[in-house]
Amino acid sequence: MNARETLKVYFGYDSFREGQEDIIDTIISGGDVLAIMPTGAGKSICYQVPALLLPGITLVISPLISLMQDQVKALNEAGIHAAFINSSLTDNQISKALSLAARGVYKIIYVAPERLESFEFLDFVSQVDISMVTVDEAHCISQWGQDFRPSYLKIVEFIKKLSKRPIVSAFTATATEEVKEDILCILSLINPHVVVTGFDRQNLYYSVEHMKKKDDFVIDYVEKHPSDSGIIYCSTRKNVDNLFELLFKRGVSVTKYHAGMNTESRKKSQDDFIYDRTPVIVATNAFGMGIDKSNVRYVIHYNMPQSMENYYQEAGRAGRDGEPSQCILLFSAQDVIINKFLLEKKDFSGLSDEDAVLVQQRDYKRLQIMEGYCSTTRCLRNYILTYFGEKTSGPCDHCGNCHRQYKEVDMTAEAKQIINCVAETRGRYGLVIVLGTLMGANRARLRELGTVNYKTYGALKGHSETELRALISQMIAEGYLFQTEGQYSVIKLGDISPLRDENTRVVMRTFEEKKPDKNKTVRKRSTDSLTASGYDLFEILRKLRLEIAREEALPPYIIFSDKTLIDMCVKLPADRESFLNVSGVGVTKLDKYGQRFLDAIHTFLDTHPGEIVSMSDDTDDKVFDRAEFNRQRNRPESAGASWSEEEDNMLDQEFHSGMSILEIAKLHSRTAGGIRARLKKHGLIE
Ligand code: ADP
Ligand code: ZN
Repeated sequence: MNARETLKVYFGYDSFREGQEDIIDTIISGGDVLAIMPTGAGKSICYQVPALLLPGITLVISPLISLMQDQVKALNEAGIHAAFINSSLTDNQISKALSLAARGVYKIIYVAPERLESFEFLDFVSQVDISMVTVDEAHCISQWGQDFRPSYLKIVEFIKKLSKRPIVSAFTATATEEVKEDILCILSLINPHVVVTGFDRQNLYYSVEHMKKKDDFVIDYVEKHPSDSGIIYCSTRKNVDNLFELLFKRGVSVTKYHAGMNTESRKKSQDDFIYDRTPVIVATNAFGMGIDKSNVRYVIHYNMPQSMENYYQEAGRAGRDGEPSQCILLFSAQDVIINKFLLEKKDFSGLSDEDAVLVQQRDYKRLQIMEGYCSTTRCLRNYILTYFGEKTSGPCDHCGNCHRQYKEVDMTAEAKQIINCVAETRGRYGLVIVLGTLMGANRARLRELGTVNYKTYGALKGHSETELRALISQMIAEGYLFQTEGQYSVIKLGDISPLRDENTRVVMRTFEEKKPDKNKTVRKRSTDSLTASGYDLFEILRKLRLEIAREEALPPYIIFSDKTLIDMCVKLPADRESFLNVSGVGVTKLDKYGQRFLDAIHTFLDTHPGEIVSMSDDTDDKVFDRAEFNRQRNRPESAGASWSEEEDNMLDQEFHSGMSILEIAKLHSRTAGGIRARLKKHGLIE
């Protein structure tokens, strides 16, 4: 078997994606590889396909237990013998796995880096032929990255201990230059072929929403996308608990995850989410490492994360299956304040003073870049790509900013009035009093406090309250003002020195939504090609998948991805051979599950005769050819079956085009009598 056949037979895919073939070819011909590919690009295939073609065993070093287990389950489902060795197994289980491995049962073995030193493991590798060592999440070797794992440094010594140097391949999604250099150097790759594929995730739609009422936004969004799976990240446990309560009370099928919960309930939440029992999860950033769930349709950040690195990783958990997905960041001025506060509180014990200063500077820089993402009016995708060192061409037309027309208004004069007013209050009053005073409101409370006698009383009379509120929040975010926490929150002056410089401006942005550019390709979800009836079939297949998942105790996406189910609805396979043409169906899965899905499709078509299930993407042509389907199944359809509107229209057209009743009947796999009756009903014949 060659690489392409292996891809088809085991994984059910027809073609390689960008970078995959190049990497696989290099490995098969004996070369080392470093591959930098974004999440969801398909890194696993790049070492799993060669592992099947190389003579010996491939060891995959991976940092996360859950990730290993997931991969091994998926491989076994695809008919590939694989095992993992990590601390979740007992000593007994490990010995057993290793003895099976020594007998050549497994082609691929996932192993935690700590294991590489164990005597038992070293003994095992001395008895077998190791063709390749694959380092997954290779950035963990670099101290520059945020996921540095000291145990990764042991990989090199381990490789040196092997009697024959294996091929070494390393994979990561982290693209910064320092990390790349570290991997190349520390792993001592020999003449490595370095493959960097585009960092862009074209199926992700980025947007930033500036707002205060985040709860309303989240509720509205979740309720408008009831059948979608999504993650909502919050910066604190308290936020997670509150938001979870709110959604739960409204009847949303939701779960939550944060480090304050005990291990058991965390595991349960995670499983409920992965197994699609609760499609929505509210979580802190403790959640997500090693989550491979492929059908996450949206990731909402309730708070601004601390760095672009964090954001890209968390948001990147959306749309691993390549389907269009949303990454929405909800921003409020308060986020900046909280993040600064967290950085100030950060514990630097264990670091020298010098290092602590460096780390702190780096953190502030990262925070600034994140703030920049939230305030830019330019293309958000390009902002991200530029930060990660990638070249960009024009705006993407697939992000919130590209679909907005921003207007900038100079509010410097108004900002100065606000500062004067806060100065007059001597920082004693809250937002309501400050606003009321500036707008010259006629309120007893203002007379009581004496703010009606301020110079700034009524100074901003012509402005709307909403506008002034927005300006004040922006001034808080920019540090000119400062709002205290707690129930009796007051507004104080922040650092106003920049405004003493005449050239400093306070600019407020407003925007109007623009229509997407029609000339650019609109990214569609695969489900877009399904008709209402197609959705019904999709639902039936999803239910069947869930049923099988329960029987097998596997996450549903390991059985088949959503994409594969949708492809079934589009292709409507009638037999085993055509079932194998569905993307994501390999030989083992065909044998295991093929018949049940084929039966479900048959039953659906029998009970929904004449219904159109899908329409092709680019044109509005009907794809479903019932005559062809029946020919495949050798089952002529009964004449009395109901007629869909589409088939009716077709019938009329065919009649007017001069076709004979017999010809039309053949085309529709119906009897001539049935067609005649229908034409009569349309008043076309007597
Ligand atoms: P990564 O490890 O790079 O984040 P994965 O290896 O998990 O990505 O792959 C992401 C998804 O893409 C998986 O569902 C995988 O089955 C699918 N995939 C990988 N290669 C291909 C391919 N050549 N054709 C179609 N789907 C693919
Ligand atoms: Zn854009």
